[in-house]
Amino acid sequence: MRPSLLQYLKLILLLALGGVTTMHVPKQDVPLSLEALTLDGHFSFHDVSAAAQDFGNMSSFPPVAVLHPGSVADIATTIRHVFLMGEHSALTVAARGHGHSLYGQSQAAEGIVISMESLQSNRMRVNPGESPYVDASGGELWINVLHETLKYGLAPKSWTDYLHLTVGGTLSNAGVSGQTFRHGPQISNVNELEIVTGRGDVITCSPEQNSDLFHAALGGLGQFGIITRARIPLEPAPKMVRWIRVLYLDFASFTEDQEMLISAEKTFDYIEGFVIINRTGILNNWRSSFNPQDPMRASQFESDGKVLFCLEMTKNFNPDEADVMEQVSQPLALCH
Ligand SMILES: Cc1cc2nc3c(=O)[nH]c(=O)nc-3n(C[C@H](O)[C@H](O)[C@H](O)COP(=O)(O)OP(=O)(O)OC[C@H]3O[C@@H](n4cnc5c(N)ncnc54)[C@H](O)[C@@H]3O)c2cc1C
Repeated sequence: MRPSLLQYLKLILLLALGGVTTMHVPKQDVPLSLEALTLDGHFSFHDVSAAAQDFGNMSSFPPVAVLHPGSVADIATTIRHVFLMGEHSALTVAARGHGHSLYGQSQAAEGIVISMESLQSNRMRVNPGESPYVDASGGELWINVLHETLKYGLAPKSWTDYLHLTVGGTLSNAGVSGQTFRHGPQISNVNELEIVTGRGDVITCSPEQNSDLFHAALGGLGQFGIITRARIPLEPAPKMVRWIRVLYLDFASFTEDQEMLISAEKTFDYIEGFVIINRTGILNNWRSSFNPQDPMRASQFESDGKVLFCLEMTKNFNPDEADVMEQVSQPLALCH
């Protein structure tokens, strides 16, 4: 629906008088007031249904507008505009990364959703120096961070299992995977953040600079500002990796072994444990490291429909250590 002439006149009046203090924007005039902002990107007002969905598929709250920012300044301008509407405005703002939340966390009912993936725009920069790091946009997917850093033989230290999640999305939560026992979650592996605050200020923060904001935003569920850039420390990427899975029928042995491995020095570089609900065909599962053609091993996995437990581990090594690695890991690849 196109705004009427009267609505345009009301908006011009609002912007002219609103000035420095807060300005009241009636709900029906919000789209018009957003349209009047000068941006590098743009707002969508009609095609907003995707922003009302997430991976969980349990909540659906359509926003009034989706911002596709062309720059960090667009996010700052929009948030400042909402801030200036004052505390009586019910308009909410939510950043949306890859929308893999389960309960609508990246949605904003009748508010503004900021589509962070629009912000990827060539902002990734790898510094391969003595203490290497990458500067990545908050809307960048971790898979892209990996591909870019691998060009320099480098990689972040702490991961999620699934890499089609955004930097801002996982840093607003925790970001855990099989490296967490060694390096901590992803939020413990950040040097610096650039954040657009609730007032629309763009602030750089780190453990040394604006540290309250830094620590609040990490794991802050998007409530302390929008992460527009993160500086992630890097380490040399492994050249080769040995991937091992061990199946257990007995929960006590499974947890005992897992605790022993994560507390011992110099064991694996990645350790995860999970439960497998035993269905037919687990040996052919794409994640299985067991060779279904091997009848000796396959016969050990008959479990009559019982729940199985699995330890998954990896060990990084150099090509010249391949023989040693074979000797060390072979006894582990057996069923317990
Ligand atoms: C298939 C699948 C696999 C997963 N695997 C793992 C895993 O291995 N390890 C793990 O730890 N988690 C995992 N998760 C959970 C996932 O990390 C979180 O749901 C994460 O928040 C999703 O990232 P996203 O980019 O989709 O963020 P979204 O779902 O879009 O957003 C998540 C939250 O962060 C906020 N947010 C998003 N971007 C920003 C930003 N730039 N600044 C501030 N706030 C922001 C949103 O407002 C929202 O509150 C998985 C989820 C799914 C669905």
